[in-house]
Amino acid sequence: MTFKRLINGFRDFQNEYFKSDSDLFEKLVNDGQSPEALVIACSDSRIDPAILTRSEPGDIFSVRNVAAMVPPYTADTRYHGTSSAIEYAVKALKVKYIIVMGHQHCGGIRALAQSPDTEEDEDSFIQQWISIGRRARKAVHSILEDSSEDEQLRALEQSSILVSLNNLLSFPWVREAVEAGHLHLHGWYFDMTHGKLLGYNPETMHFEDILKSQNLPAISTSHAYGYGCESVTLALPRFLNQLRDTPLPEATLEKKPQRNRLPLKDRLKQFACTCAASSTMGLEEISPLIAAGLV
Ligand SMILES: [Zn+2]
Repeated sequence: MTFKRLINGFRDFQNEYFKSDSDLFEKLVNDGQSPEALVIACSDSRIDPAILTRSEPGDIFSVRNVAAMVPPYTADTRYHGTSSAIEYAVKALKVKYIIVMGHQHCGGIRALAQSPDTEEDEDSFIQQWISIGRRARKAVHSILEDSSEDEQLRALEQSSILVSLNNLLSFPWVREAVEAGHLHLHGWYFDMTHGKLLGYNPETMHFEDILKSQNLPAISTSHAYGYGCESVTLALPRFLNQLRDTPLPEATLEKKPQRNRLPLKDRLKQFACTCAASSTMGLEEISPLIAAGLV
């Protein structure tokens, strides 16, 4: 791709697309936009939600950022690009769907996996931004410690989507719209190797082929997400435990040597207790969830 190709590409768009769809553009100019979906996707040049879904102009409102992340709701006077796009989509456009679209081979997620445990790096916007997913990284490292790097990256790519979905529910007007049934939240994952789009099923806690599971339920506040921003730490162990049992493509099955470790059940319990210690939730609030099958 050269700069000249961009200009030639626009010439083709103007001569072919714009002229043949002049009615659509006239309508969009006169009536304004009324997209039904907000898609939050990665800035990665290989992942364009409009191309992947063969959307037309006016179909989707989108925000793209490093690693397709949604920060938690924060009421302060800083510059919130992603949050302002979510606000406009929900409050003004009244979209019916918000889709968080992560993807395989995500450079932002790889950076998250390799980022230091220390607190925010003030010299790097990227390190600060991807720290949103640190909770997912902690869970993946705790539960899939014995897995290959590829397996851990895939798990982190997918569990970061869950963190973002959970963070979406920390926005009060998102939560209200979801509870009123006006807004539906979905997590999608583009598997670039196989050209497949997977959707998160909150009932099975699996990412499933959306072409085979076309009626995937949306995320609701009852899917172990209804406990505020900290709750994803409770959902992730179950999700990751199931992911662990899901066969991955042959190329990703390079296993690390096994070491003597605590049984998985004990590690999950240990992890839940660590989460409780570092969160605003007390163990007494978490215990019923543990009893309900978390560990
Ligand atoms: Zn990416």
